[in-house]
Amino acid sequence: MIKKDYIIVGQGLAGTVLALTFMKEGMSVMIIDDLPQSSASKIAAGLYNPVVFKRLVKSWMADDLIPFMDKFYGEAESLLNTEFYNKKKIVKLFAEENEREFWLKKSKENVGKYLSKDIYDNFLECIVNAPLGASEVIEAGNLNTGLFLNSSREYFKTNDAFIAERFDYGQLKISDDHVSYQGVMASKIIFCEGYKVSENPYFDWLPFKLTKGEILTIKLSQNDIIPEDKVINKGVFILPIGNNTYKVGSTYEWNELNENTTEKGRKELIDKLNKVLKVPYEIIEHSAGIRPTVNDRRPILGLHPQHSVLVVFNGLGTKGVMLAPFFAQQLVDFLEKGLPLDAEINITRFI
Ligand SMILES: Cc1cc2nc3c(=O)[nH]c(=O)nc-3n(C[C@H](O)[C@H](O)[C@H](O)COP(=O)(O)OP(=O)(O)OC[C@H]3O[C@@H](n4cnc5c(N)ncnc54)[C@H](O)[C@@H]3O)c2cc1C
Repeated sequence: MIKKDYIIVGQGLAGTVLALTFMKEGMSVMIIDDLPQSSASKIAAGLYNPVVFKRLVKSWMADDLIPFMDKFYGEAESLLNTEFYNKKKIVKLFAEENEREFWLKKSKENVGKYLSKDIYDNFLECIVNAPLGASEVIEAGNLNTGLFLNSSREYFKTNDAFIAERFDYGQLKISDDHVSYQGVMASKIIFCEGYKVSENPYFDWLPFKLTKGEILTIKLSQNDIIPEDKVINKGVFILPIGNNTYKVGSTYEWNELNENTTEKGRKELIDKLNKVLKVPYEIIEHSAGIRPTVNDRRPILGLHPQHSVLVVFNGLGTKGVMLAPFFAQQLVDFLEKGLPLDAEINITRFI
C-alpha cells in the first residue's frame, strides 16, 4: 500500500495548483487524472483581468488575488523551469461615444489603480478598428495553461505523484480517518473534477450552473502584428500567444452542455472578430470546453457533510487562473492548520 497525505482527483487548474501548494508545504499527494483530449483548463485562454468591463468595477477580490497569483505562478515557473505566466495590458477599444468619459471618471476612483489614464486615439489603426479610442487595463495578463499543466504533470510524475487513469468512484473505500483507493491510502481525498463533478456520487448535488465556451486560434499574416504584451478587447478578446497566432474568445452557452465545437459558436466569434480586425486572418483551431460555474458564481471548497475525509475544490467558473492559487492555499490552511474557510466559498453555504 502506498501512503500519501492526500489523493487528488483531477489535474486541471484546480487539482494542479492544489497539488503544487501541498507539495510546497511538504505534504505528499497522489493525483489521478484521465488525461482528457480537451478540458476547460487545457483550452482556456488563461487571461486574468482585475476589471469587470461592463460596469468598470474591480473584479471580486482582485486586490488580494492578483499579488497572491503573481507570487504563486512566479514560484511555479522557477520550480518547473518553464515560462508560462505573462503580464500583459488589456487594450479596451471603446464601443460607444460615452465610454471614454466613463473610463476617465472611473480611472480617478478606487478601480483606477488598474486603469490607464492615457487614451489612444489611433491604436494600431492599420490592424484594428478603434474609431472611438481605446485605453488599457494594467496588472492583467495570462497563464499559458497547457504549458503549466504539462510541465506540472512531468514534475508530479518524477515525484511518483501521478496516475493516468479514470477514477472509479466504486473502488473508493471510506473510513472515519482515512480513504484508500486501489493501493493508495491517504488521510483525505480531494475532488477537483471541474464540470465532471456531476458524475461524482458524493458531490453531484452541488448547485452548478455550467457554462460552455468556444474559442478560436487564428494566425495573421507576417506583416500584421499585434504586440505580444497587448490583449485587444471589444466584444471578444484577441490574445497573442506567439508566432503571430492569437486566441480569440469566448462564447457563453448555458443549454447545450457538451465539449463539441459548433457552427453557431464559430460564427459568433467570427462576426465579433470581423468588427475588430481590419486585416485577413486564418482560423487554425476551434475548441470547446465547459466551465465549472456555480449558481452564486463563487468557488466551492470544503468537507462533505457526512464524510469528513471527502473534500471538494471546484467552482472556479470563468476565472480559474486568478482564483486557484489563493483558494488552494486557503484549503491547505483549513485542512492542515484548522484555519477557517471564507463563508462565501465554503460548501456549508449549500448545506
Ligand atoms: C472557452 C473557455 C475559455 C476560458 N478562458 C479563461 C480565461 O481566459 N481565464 C480564466 O481564468 N479561466 C478561463 N476559463 C475557465 C477555466 O478554464 C476554468 O475556471 C478552469 O479551467 C477550471 O479548472 P478545473 O480544474 O476546476 O476543471 P477542468 O479544467 O475541467 O479539469 C478537471 C480535470 O479533472 C479530470 N477528471 C474529472 N473526472 C475525473 C475522473 N473521474 N477520473 C479522472 N480524472 C477526472 C478531467 O479530465 C480534467 O482533467 C475558460 C474556460 C473555457 C471553456
